[in-house]
Amino acid sequence: MKKNLLLVKFGWLPDELMEFLRTKLLEHFAGLITDVSSHKKTLRLPSHAHDFERDQYLANDLIEELIIIAKKRKSFRTLGITRADLYTEDYNFIFGMAESHDIPGPKVAVISTCRLSNEFWNEPYNKDLFHERTIKEAIHELGHTFGLKHCSDNCIMRFSNSILDTDAKPKTFCAICQKKLYHVK
Ligand SMILES: [Zn+2]
Ligand SMILES: [Zn+2]
Repeated sequence: MKKNLLLVKFGWLPDELMEFLRTKLLEHFAGLITDVSSHKKTLRLPSHAHDFERDQYLANDLIEELIIIAKKRKSFRTLGITRADLYTEDYNFIFGMAESHDIPGPKVAVISTCRLSNEFWNEPYNKDLFHERTIKEAIHELGHTFGLKHCSDNCIMRFSNSILDTDAKPKTFCAICQKKLYHVK
């Protein structure tokens, strides 16, 4: 059975980054995801998700749009990507968010690359580091869509509260999470 991961862009993103995500996600979810494709249309960020005062977007609204697309496209997993800064009611900002695995329906997640680029922190742009951080956030959020919770081990499922946390964690699952990963649908 084909297990398709659909990548959905909210706004422009570099082709090179999308290609990097495609190849690396296939590697990291070998057997679980068998094919990665990009949604043809680049979506506009939902205007109702925009908070003008904070100049951020409410991640939940992007998740809702992704659920609609996932239902139409019948994708196995769906990952939204945006350069916009995201927040939720509980967090000032987030690197990413996943719809709980326990909720029936499409399994979707979204990541924001806004704070993953050195430029956000007034440091020189570093493509490799930017790609590395983005793949880590993508693997982490997709891990949630496979039912994994946060893990305190040296593991990609460790919670990131800051970019330092993201840099410190490996881009692999610990042995326990890896085992769990292959036991869910
Ligand atoms: Zn998480
Ligand atoms: Zn773990």
